Amino acid sequence: MPRTARLALLLAAVLAACAQGSPESSSPDRPPNFVIVFADDLGWGDLGSYGAPVIRTPHLDRMAAEGQRWTNFYVTASVCSPSRAGLLTGRLAVRNGLYGDRVRVLFPDFVGGIQDEEITIAEALTDLGYATGMFGKWHLGDRPRYLPTRHGFDYWFGIPYSNDMMSTLPREERRAAFLDPKIEYWDVPLIRSERDAAGEIVTETLEQPADQTTITKRYAEEAVDFIRAHRDVPFFVYVPHSMPHVPLFRAPDFEGHSGAGLYGDVIEEIDWSVGRILDTLEEEGLAENTVVFFSSDNGPWTAFRTQGGLAGPFREGKGMTWEGGMRVPGLFWWPGTIAPSVVTDEIGSTSDLLATFLSLSDGAMPDDRPMDSLDLAPVLRGDGEGPRDEMPFYRGSELHAYRVGNYKAHFITRGEYGLGGERMEHDPPLLYDLSVDAGEQWDIAAAQPAALAEVTARALQHLAGVEVAPSQLDLRTGGD
Ligand code: MG
Repeated sequence: MPRTARLALLLAAVLAACAQGSPESSSPDRPPNFVIVFADDLGWGDLGSYGAPVIRTPHLDRMAAEGQRWTNFYVTASVCSPSRAGLLTGRLAVRNGLYGDRVRVLFPDFVGGIQDEEITIAEALTDLGYATGMFGKWHLGDRPRYLPTRHGFDYWFGIPYSNDMMSTLPREERRAAFLDPKIEYWDVPLIRSERDAAGEIVTETLEQPADQTTITKRYAEEAVDFIRAHRDVPFFVYVPHSMPHVPLFRAPDFEGHSGAGLYGDVIEEIDWSVGRILDTLEEEGLAENTVVFFSSDNGPWTAFRTQGGLAGPFREGKGMTWEGGMRVPGLFWWPGTIAPSVVTDEIGSTSDLLATFLSLSDGAMPDDRPMDSLDLAPVLRGDGEGPRDEMPFYRGSELHAYRVGNYKAHFITRGEYGLGGERMEHDPPLLYDLSVDAGEQWDIAAAQPAALAEVTARALQHLAGVEVAPSQLDLRTGGD
């Protein structure tokens, strides 16, 4: 064989070996993977990069240092079920039905849940060939037809509702139990659900009560295993932690880990779990092809005092339409695409993740229904303006407040969540300029009538475009 031919053969073999050795994950044609880590009741001010004074969150701070930190990021509701439904469907709870006016979240005996007509992020990405795994708390209905594996997830390991449900204690002892929590006080099941080889959904209860001291670690380890097993296909991993929702539990090696008590230990364990995921993505060579997003489903549960977190400079917390209830951390990490250490004051919402992920994966947005989802990709890439300048603040089916630009008007306010409190209708509405008064202390309605008129007009315009769906939560009293 002539030398040149031998060389050509050799080079062809080298090329073939390179092609084989090079994981599919580095293919430029492959759409990015998506990871969402969603804490439960974590406050805006509980992360180092958002000014936490004592709690240490080096892994989440690394996401901020290497990625993008949003200072005006919101959830669609200030409590669990409607907030999670907003994130997964890209639609407000008044449209997808996961709201209630008699009760605010789903409980284990309820008949309602997420409707089959809704398109979750998991379903939209499944259609594009993604593998989808969920590791954590669902809270969109616990009857079999509502569970995650019926709504787009190939695999689910987690709990069906909040970790403080299914109490085994008499009513009068329940509140005190949070101060000295024991696993057996809350008979919450830990469930695994997946499709078998024949395509049938197999769901089993692994533990009841779930061992909540190890649950944060197990979500992380299960997510890591899923990422490793699916490194060669696009994947969507959703990690909605059940912490730091009370009752607070952490693993023995995180006892006293923080200088901020039990709550701080819990946050530091969640931070550790984020580190496990980031490290795994790097070890597998997937970091540059994976968008990781971190946030919380609502503000801190201030009624639990020292067992709740901090809302940073914002007023009130969970359950409220003040900023502390709905403004949350928003961290995006995507090495090589998102420039490091960017802080943006663009307005974003968890309901925007659907449009953003579909934009980045070349998917098409649903066009047969009203959506509340805007594409944040230009901000992430640093090549365009943010698309959002309005934010509605709902409690149940009622619009309580509305933000346009930096102005926010409150039409209705309520007292502290979990401790009762009066409903107050404001006429004229309260008006705050969040650019100079992030804490919503100084009502400027009288001084700024034009701004108040503009926000009110935009709120009315928004309401005119909303057809309120029947409530899935209030079905509780609907005859079952
Ligand atoms: Mg919550």
